[in-house]
Amino acid sequence: SEHVPESNVDVLIIGAGPAGLMAACWMAHCGVTTRIVDKRGTKIFCGQADGLQCRSLEIFDSLGFADRAWKEANHMIEICMWNPGTDGIIRRSDRIPDTIVGICRFQQITLHQGRIERFFLDNIKKYSKDTIKVERGVLPEFLEIDESKVKDQSSYPVTVKLRHLTDEEATPQQQINGSKISDGLFRSNLMHADDEDDLIQKSKSRAGTGEIVHAKYVIGCDGARSWTRRTLGFELQGEATDFIWGVLDIIPITDFPDIRMRCAIHSAENGSLMVIPRENKLVRLYIQLTEVTPDASGRADRSKITPDIILNAAKKILSPYKIDYEYCDWWTAYQIGQRVGTQFDAHERVFLAGDAVHTHSPKAGQGMNVSMHDTYNLGWKVALVAKGIAKPSILSTYQSERRRIAQDLIDFDHRFSRLFSGRPAKDVMDAAGVSMEEFKKAFVKGNLFASGLIVNYGPSSLVSQAVDESKGVMSDTTPTIGSTNAFAKQSLAKGLPIGMRFNSFKVVNQSDARPWHFQEKLKSTGQFRIVVFAGNILNPSQKKRVEDFCEALGAPNSFYRTSATSSPPLDNPIEVLTIHSAKRVETNLMDFPEILHPYNSHTGWDYDKVFVDDVSYHEDTGKAYEGYGVDKERGCIVVARPDQYVGWVGDLEDFNDLQKYFEGCLMLSPRA
Ligand code: FAD
Repeated sequence: SEHVPESNVDVLIIGAGPAGLMAACWMAHCGVTTRIVDKRGTKIFCGQADGLQCRSLEIFDSLGFADRAWKEANHMIEICMWNPGTDGIIRRSDRIPDTIVGICRFQQITLHQGRIERFFLDNIKKYSKDTIKVERGVLPEFLEIDESKVKDQSSYPVTVKLRHLTDEEATPQQQINGSKISDGLFRSNLMHADDEDDLIQKSKSRAGTGEIVHAKYVIGCDGARSWTRRTLGFELQGEATDFIWGVLDIIPITDFPDIRMRCAIHSAENGSLMVIPRENKLVRLYIQLTEVTPDASGRADRSKITPDIILNAAKKILSPYKIDYEYCDWWTAYQIGQRVGTQFDAHERVFLAGDAVHTHSPKAGQGMNVSMHDTYNLGWKVALVAKGIAKPSILSTYQSERRRIAQDLIDFDHRFSRLFSGRPAKDVMDAAGVSMEEFKKAFVKGNLFASGLIVNYGPSSLVSQAVDESKGVMSDTTPTIGSTNAFAKQSLAKGLPIGMRFNSFKVVNQSDARPWHFQEKLKSTGQFRIVVFAGNILNPSQKKRVEDFCEALGAPNSFYRTSATSSPPLDNPIEVLTIHSAKRVETNLMDFPEILHPYNSHTGWDYDKVFVDDVSYHEDTGKAYEGYGVDKERGCIVVARPDQYVGWVGDLEDFNDLQKYFEGCLMLSPRA
């Protein structure tokens, strides 16, 4: 019989949408041998997701490409609400800021998914030195986990058979705008010139042939109809709704005054419309289609849906304002289903992420964001375990941390869809209608949720349990199985909630006086970070506390010395950063113990590790201790995980608990 090539790889990623690309990005940044395959012959070029939350921008910044998105995108500053008056005519009834003021250094933006995927591809290429490439036109056909090997870290327990498709197979039948939809309403073959080089990068020589890959880990990011999920026999739980929504990406010609604002428009009798202003004069309209309803089997006849039907619905809702277009970039329609996967992994060897484990309506602009956040949570864990740096037990935190978020998302979407789809109440007695006051409240609350910034992962082997020092007992959060033994003192840094992302305030570099947002220093390198809030280093007794802490940290038995070293780019799994609160001009870098600004015989001192919470010439700095809720005299110690979530907070004297934190998650070697 034909010879089938076999090979080993540390990580195999199935699917190169936002979730798969984020996973590949981590592997590139951490230097893990990885393959990523996608059955389609091309990436997407327009349409689909277009909203980026502020948390996604923080993540992009940590990876190195937020600036590209920020420059190209449309910035969403204000939301306007339009509702019918007693005469039935729509009027602007409210304005709220799109991003909650002060919550983040970024605001929400819109830019289509194809550009986001482009930024990822470029970043992966750069950081992997061109070793990780999306292999397109590759379809998995078989997956098996050898359970006898799953506990053996050196083994490759997952076997996947891949088939390299022929060109025709990899390019699904699609048609141009305006014609009938054939395969999946979600794809279009309209292309942008700059994406053309991306077409079908697959190895033609192997077209139609098979190969066998043995992987340590497989990450299934293959979308809502996930083959990986079905192969594992896992299900999505939840339901389809009867709501059918149309989406139209157009350059509108209109007299509606708020077309460049994000708008929620409820008409008296003709349904509701969401306006999402976009890049390049584009505007996306989301419209509930009342004329098309699902049949008895719950399925709608897609062939009845055309751009004209969607436009006509928009015209009725916007009346007396007029709307039309000459240019349509993309359009689609979909039926909302709200479902969550029952399991996010099999044997902590095969993981599912993104739409493969949660589906919901796109209106809240969550799908792409939450999907990327899934693999932003998972990627570094898999990378550090594959490199022998972290304990395999941390992998269970992926499901415990992300499944709850998926559930919250579905609950949120459920409530939000109902409010959005409902008819406005005529008056307080109109129980069948939706109260616009309630809608506004939900919108404001929804905005907080949609920022992605209120995620709190709760205690685990990566997030310490907080103790309530005043009572000497643990706080009300219930300990989870496998939680770390290290207790944390939340009161020392009230502005850095344990389990939430490390908030950002501006600090000043001690050595060159340049201001930075501190989060800019928490790059996605795969490193844990110990942030030493050194307090008032000019006070001799405080200086002694800092020196004692540094001595413990530098001792031969400390986790800092015994954690597994790895090859570049992840030479050292722990980085130490310092923020002190003395006056910059009265302090010198050399006042700080060496471990806080390490010396390298080739390159000298590290000038990028010690920062100060003090005034600066050109920017509004000097509020970091206050913002983080840290005592300016005494400081504290904070651990940030590689994904910027706060894992532990303690006093400078709590080194033993800090040591326990790292014993719980890293592979430490006993020192002779
Ligand atoms: P996908 O993007 O679906 O990627 C899956 C990939 O896997 C695809 O490239 C596919 O080709 C590949 N694949 C599938 N099966 C296989 C297989 N068997 N083998 C190999 N490869 C396979 N989200 C937002 O955040 N904001 C929005 O405004 C928004 N608007 C949306 C509007 C529309 C009309 C739609 C349809 C979606 C919208 N979304 C939005 C949702 C968003 O597009 C998805 O949530 C997001 O793309 C999910 O990312 P993913 O990587 O999990 O899956």
